[in-house]
Amino acid sequence: MVLLTLLCTLFTIAVPVAVVYVSLHFVFGIGGPPLYFALALATAIPLIIAPPLSFIVLYLLYLMTATVDQVNNHVKFDRLTGLLSRGYFLDSVRAALPRGGAFLMVDADHFKAINDTHGHDIGDEALQAIASAISVALAGQGIVGRLGGEEFAIFLPACSLTVAEAMADTIGKTVRAQCATVADHPLGITVSIGVAQHDKSRSLEATMKEADVFLYEAKRAGRARYVSARPGNPVIDDA
Ligand code: GH3
Ligand code: MG
Ligand code: MG
Repeated sequence: MVLLTLLCTLFTIAVPVAVVYVSLHFVFGIGGPPLYFALALATAIPLIIAPPLSFIVLYLLYLMTATVDQVNNHVKFDRLTGLLSRGYFLDSVRAALPRGGAFLMVDADHFKAINDTHGHDIGDEALQAIASAISVALAGQGIVGRLGGEEFAIFLPACSLTVAEAMADTIGKTVRAQCATVADHPLGITVSIGVAQHDKSRSLEATMKEADVFLYEAKRAGRARYVSARPGNPVIDDA
């Protein structure tokens, strides 16, 4: 900002000095002390006005940019977990849809009981721990967001069902391992996961609905597991 202020000041000095010099010397043929006095005046006036004015304008511009960035981050990320917020997640998934892939719907098991037994604050920490475990399992792959409450979603672009199932298994095991204890509370958290392959001919909503149906099946089958279109999905255990 200091450099820009300096550049603005130099520019606002250079322009009047050039104009005064060209018009007095070449147009009116004035030289000697009167010309030097006029040039000194043309330098002094912008030198007094330009630095504070440039600084104020540039500072306001900086504040505006910082505020826009802050608002953007607010909209983009879920405040509790730091994962993508629902809206931004779905936009990102839509942009990646042409490549095809797999959608994973992840829901924490019996989460209400954690809040009821250990309090809402521990519940919040548990959600952060689940988000962190999912991120560890993904190791930078795919797009991950918090859809709301204790529900998370992942889209793995250009990913086969077999690879997506393996990822669901890794997520389940990582959550089990990392969220066994949260803030010294033995919570033994598990997640259920619905895995749906995205068919390019259908909408994102249809794929999400299928993942949701499989998630419901995983819950009904006893939780702590993933379910996909493939029959006989295994329970996610400690092994
Ligand atoms: P299920 O295994 O069938 O999914 O059972 P569940 O208890 O996880 O599901 P249910 O829908 O009955 O309860 C979800 C709970 O998640 C209830 C709600 O209080 C809690 N929850 C949602 N959002 C938050 C949050 O931001 N922080 C905390 N601490 N709890 C939350
Ligand atoms: Mg739940
Ligand atoms: Mg839920």
